[in-house]
Amino acid sequence: KLRLTQIKLAGFKSFVDPTHIPLPGQIVGVVGPNGCGKSNVIDALRWVLGESKASALRGETMQDVIFNGSSKRKPVSRASVELIFDNSLGKAAGQWSTYAEISIKRVLQRDGDSSYYINNQHVRRKDITDIFLGTGLGARAYAIIEQGMISRIIEAKPEELRIFLEEAAGVSKYRDRRRETELR
Ligand code: ATP
Ligand code: MG
Repeated sequence: KLRLTQIKLAGFKSFVDPTHIPLPGQIVGVVGPNGCGKSNVIDALRWVLGESKASALRGETMQDVIFNGSSKRKPVSRASVELIFDNSLGKAAGQWSTYAEISIKRVLQRDGDSSYYINNQHVRRKDITDIFLGTGLGARAYAIIEQGMISRIIEAKPEELRIFLEEAAGVSKYRDRRRETELR
C-alpha cells in the first residue's frame, strides 16, 4: 500500500531545527534517552494526520506543538510536519493515484490556523483524512499503537470497540459518507 518513507519536522515540539528522519526499512526502531523526543515523533505523525485535540498530543492548547524555547533557544513562530509516502503502486485514492510520491504537510502559525497540503497543494483537513480512511492510518486509527492502547482496547466499551473494528474492517469510510449524505 502507501509506505511512509520520510518524516520532516521543523519547529515541532523539541525539533526546532529542520529535521529529516528517513525510514528505510519495513521496521524502524527509535531509541534514545528519556526526554530525547521519541514520543514527539509519534505526536508529529498524529498531528499531521489531522489530530485536533491538544490533549491527544500531550499539550493544553494546539500552540503547544510549536517549539516554545529552551535555555539556549528562543521560541519559534511556526511548526511544520511533512510525511512522504511511496505511492509507486498507485494505491493513493482518487486524483493522487498517479503520483509516485505523496507528500502530506501540516503547518501551524503561532497566531493563526493550521493549513494542510497534499503535494504542496492547499487542501482541507478532510482531504487528508480521506486519503487514509480504511487504511488504519489516521490520527485516531489503530495503526499507531501507543503505551496503554492494548489495555484500552481490552477494556473498551462496546461502542468504542465497534469504532476500532469498523476502521480495521475498512468500513468506516462508508459510515462517514453516509453521515455526510444525511447532513445534506
Ligand atoms: P521517554 O523515554 O521518557 O518517553 P521521549 O523520548 O518520548 O522520552 P518526548 O516526550 O518525545 O521524550 O520529549 C520530551 C521533550 O520534548 C521534553 O524535553 C520537552 O521539554 C520537549 N518539548 C515538548 N514540547 C515542546 C515544545 N513545544 N517546545 C520545546 N520543547 C518541547
Ligand atoms: Mg516517550
